[in-house]
Amino acid sequence: MTAPLIDPFQRAITYLRVSVTDRCDFRCVYCMSENMTFLPKKELLTLEELDRMCSTFVRMGVEKLRITGGEPLVRRDIMTFFNAMTRHLESGDLRELTLTTNGSQLERFAQPLHDAGVRRVNISLDTLDEKKFADVTRWGRLPQVLRGIDAAQKAGIRVKINTVALKGFNEDELFPLVEWCADRDMDLTFIEVMPMGDIGNEDRLDQYWKLTDLRAQLAERYTLTDLAERTGGPARYVRAEETGQKIGFITPLSHNFCESCNRVRLTCTGELYMCLGQEDMADLRAPLRNNPGTDAPLEEAIRAAIAHKPKGHDFDYSRQTVDGRMSRHMSHTGG
Ligand code: SAM
Ligand code: SF4
Repeated sequence: MTAPLIDPFQRAITYLRVSVTDRCDFRCVYCMSENMTFLPKKELLTLEELDRMCSTFVRMGVEKLRITGGEPLVRRDIMTFFNAMTRHLESGDLRELTLTTNGSQLERFAQPLHDAGVRRVNISLDTLDEKKFADVTRWGRLPQVLRGIDAAQKAGIRVKINTVALKGFNEDELFPLVEWCADRDMDLTFIEVMPMGDIGNEDRLDQYWKLTDLRAQLAERYTLTDLAERTGGPARYVRAEETGQKIGFITPLSHNFCESCNRVRLTCTGELYMCLGQEDMADLRAPLRNNPGTDAPLEEAIRAAIAHKPKGHDFDYSRQTVDGRMSRHMSHTGG
């Protein structure tokens, strides 16, 4: 192990989110436009490069890896990468290997992922209505995702559902979603829609459903107990006493969580974003690719990047314009 990564605000960086592809088999309306142009293959880190990159971060103190995308499970031969990370779990250097997925490929991948050491997975699901599901994901099919969720639970992987709160779309499903998750012993996290990328003519201010309003609606039916649990990210959790389940709220726009931020994000091309809400990034692909024999220049580039991690983000909806709007898509930095 080398010296741990500490940023200028004394935050230890122990959590790396890695996007392994910008491609996806869905086209969710808040995430992508229908006709996306994807990156040429040579721009992407190879599976071997991803291994070297993640292993370097683990050596520098990263204890949790979350694999995301795009849709991570559509990346060709992705199990090669997951299987390569197993050695870090076995050595105890890595405490958790996990992923965020749309669930479409889980029927096939759940067991191999469990075999590789994955014990928890976040699955994105915004509605339980087949027609609405097809509308919001454009290309997705609900039954396939439900089979994926079944397969994950059967394999012994704990499932958390992530639901983007969309005004006028899934407001009426608040309680059905909570109850469905409770029946299946799954936690549920709501995410406020964020201004990311150009996704066509959807108006994000129209879609914005404030999670404080959502929470107030929940409190009319359930006793909500605040949990002290913090992940170092923008999520806050409550327990719904009547169902026993944990419900999370990710409110990057209306909540300031930056002081406890412990994470950085790596794109599929090897750019390191120090903050989801800032444009500042460092290219790690060049120091990696140009030095096949040694990781020293890569380590140096990582340290230099962390030294620039900003104090906080600039998102702001308060003036009824989408200020602080990010030009990149969520599928680029991996959400
Ligand atoms: N494809 C995988 C999935 O959907 O779970 C992983 C990548 S996806 C970009 C990660 C998460 O970001 C998903 O839960 C998705 O709903 C969320 N997301 C995408 N665009 C968003 C936006 N504009 N605002 C809030 N959440 C968004
Ligand atoms: Fe694909 Fe996930 Fe984006 Fe939906 S949210 S388009 S599933 S990357």
